[in-house]
Amino acid sequence: MRILEGLKPEKVFEYFEAISAVPRGSGDTDKIRDYCVNFAAERGLKYVADDAGNVIIYKPSCLSNSTQPVILQGHLDMVWEKDDTSDINFETDGLELAVDGDYIHAKGTTLGGDDGIAVAMCLALLDSDNIRHPPLEILFTADEEVGMSGAEGLDASLLNGKRMINLDSEAEGFLWVSCAGGVRADIALDTQLEANAKTTFEITVSGLHGGHSGAEIHKGYANANKVMGRVLEKLMLKCDFNVCGINGGAMYNAITRECSCTVASDADICGAVCEISKNLADEYKTNAPDMVISAVSCPKAELIMSNESTKAVISLLNELPDGVIAMSGEIEGLVETSLNLGVLKTENDKVSFGFSVRSGKDNEREKLCGTLCEICKKNSCIIDFSSPYPAWEFKPDSPLREKMSAVYREMYGKEIEITAIHAGLECGIFCGKIEELDCVSLGPDMFDIHTPQERLSVSSCERVWNYLLRVLETI
Ligand SMILES: [Zn+2]
Repeated sequence: MRILEGLKPEKVFEYFEAISAVPRGSGDTDKIRDYCVNFAAERGLKYVADDAGNVIIYKPSCLSNSTQPVILQGHLDMVWEKDDTSDINFETDGLELAVDGDYIHAKGTTLGGDDGIAVAMCLALLDSDNIRHPPLEILFTADEEVGMSGAEGLDASLLNGKRMINLDSEAEGFLWVSCAGGVRADIALDTQLEANAKTTFEITVSGLHGGHSGAEIHKGYANANKVMGRVLEKLMLKCDFNVCGINGGAMYNAITRECSCTVASDADICGAVCEISKNLADEYKTNAPDMVISAVSCPKAELIMSNESTKAVISLLNELPDGVIAMSGEIEGLVETSLNLGVLKTENDKVSFGFSVRSGKDNEREKLCGTLCEICKKNSCIIDFSSPYPAWEFKPDSPLREKMSAVYREMYGKEIEITAIHAGLECGIFCGKIEELDCVSLGPDMFDIHTPQERLSVSSCERVWNYLLRVLETI
């Protein structure tokens, strides 16, 4: 007995259940790739499985005179997360699906609705012989969740379509038409160390909200590393001290929640920090209402940074920009350019500052990187850029977007919302590889993705499926 038996659209949920039995975590997509390859072979469909782990399946047009292919795209991999109630072995076991009202979830684990629903919808289309559609090029990518290496490694000459519908979004009624590109920036500052004879204290900034540096940067949550910069700057006006080490955050794309700094001093650091904390509370009352800034004495540090190095670290930390740099002029409320100081770290005599830089416009991102380079030059430190991915820039002229908006209007008597995201989607990489690609992204309602609470709305899947079918009939 199938768990999803009877849910509509039937074929979509039949395939969703089938692929839920196939382990397909990021970096472990061989089994699901084999499943898709066998699926194509059994139906006599032409396919390519490439070295980057992607599968492309081609289906000729059906009941349609349209000769222009449409690319439908989703990713094969899912994020594996489980809670204490689950004893799943992700590498060998299938997911335990369950239906609760309008929602499907997996017991104790992520559901992989992101992006299994795209795979299921595409398989249902490939399996059909009564759905009207133009030639289809179904692109299943590998490892979207861990750096988009499948999309990166794709040989785009395998695709003939100039129109792409990406099915990796999680809210019905929206059409995504742009996403941010990004790059990592790592700054390293060398310091002079000397022997310490003073008392050592640990200063901590904690109780901050945190959040995703793409999806939530516009919320203005305070970054603990930057707050620490303010604390140390104020402390310098009150007394003499030397920094021993400063550390905060471990992920480039997470807004830092906590930062700690050890300092050595003969002054009353605890008292001074207490005063500074009161002083800053008002300034941060909306962006960090539960923030705690404290200092305690701690075991003596052997080495401290020189006076000059201490000043250099503090002034660089304060000079480096952070947060929202510019808002979009095209899409209201969308952040265009931002950066996040996600990783601040001291190792021996080196202090490193790790940023995730994002922008919906590649030239704006380059401009911001240029600003960082200038600051580094002035402060005699080294900057290194890595893992760049291009923005999916808003196209003023997009026939696919117009057509899909018209279909939505006709079906639902209201407008589909045109929107953009300040985080990465594979569409950016495809737009960089396929000239003049006309691309949109959509998907059914999903909640709490990447967590064991992930759930997918059945009724939303049905509506999105019907919308997709209507779009394919008319383009
Ligand atoms: Zn996804």
